[in-house]
Amino acid sequence: MIKFENVSKVYPENFVALDNVNLTIESGEFVSVVGQSGAGKSTLLKLISAEEQPSEGVVYFNERPLSSIKKRLLPYFRRNIGTVFQDFKLLPKKTVFENVAYALEVFGETNENIAEKVPEILDIVGMTDKMEKYPHQLSGGEKQKISLARALVCNPQVILADEPSGNLDPDSTWDITQLLLKINGLGTTIVLATHNKEMVDKIEKRVIRLENGKIVSDEIKGRY
Ligand code: ADP
Repeated sequence: MIKFENVSKVYPENFVALDNVNLTIESGEFVSVVGQSGAGKSTLLKLISAEEQPSEGVVYFNERPLSSIKKRLLPYFRRNIGTVFQDFKLLPKKTVFENVAYALEVFGETNENIAEKVPEILDIVGMTDKMEKYPHQLSGGEKQKISLARALVCNPQVILADEPSGNLDPDSTWDITQLLLKINGLGTTIVLATHNKEMVDKIEKRVIRLENGKIVSDEIKGRY
């Protein structure tokens, strides 16, 4: 589903963030990308969502080179991708329901579909009782569950989670880990960038390790 072919990313001032990366991720996989801060994990995720373009090489999504997608069509392409970040990125003036609904509104879903879909997704993450709350009324773990719900609501093929436990305590990290495994079990591909050892060791799935922008190991049932 996702393929990197000789991909390098050089940021301005010749900073090499990814160095000749070759990689295939099949549909349904759960891949943890690990490595020190600065190793290139976020860059790898940004190349999948076409937020950044490779300096060299090609990134494919469903066998299509991302560079062939016209800029104005990128928002449609990104419907295939749900993203979750360390800092949640929830809209502070919208309720939980509205935060999740917003992703659907942008794509012109009917109010009827929104009213049906949002509670369904909030149920998956166990947050239906928080529907009318605002982000500031939620704990970090709850915010991350809402952010996961928002990522899921457009039924993406893949979830990109960039350090989702970065602002969470161990209990919430455990909850989010379980949820990611549940979502993967329902068929969504997951690419998780993290340096959380406990998380990766609990997941027990494929682990790709980056060092200075290079893949130094890729194990089917890896540990941190
Ligand atoms: P990680 O997610 O593993 O911490 P990143 O992919 O964020 O690593 O960053 C890899 C390297 O690229 C880092 O050294 C970072 O400073 C650099 N970098 C990331 N984004 C940019 C940018 N927009 N401009 C310049 N350098 C960047």
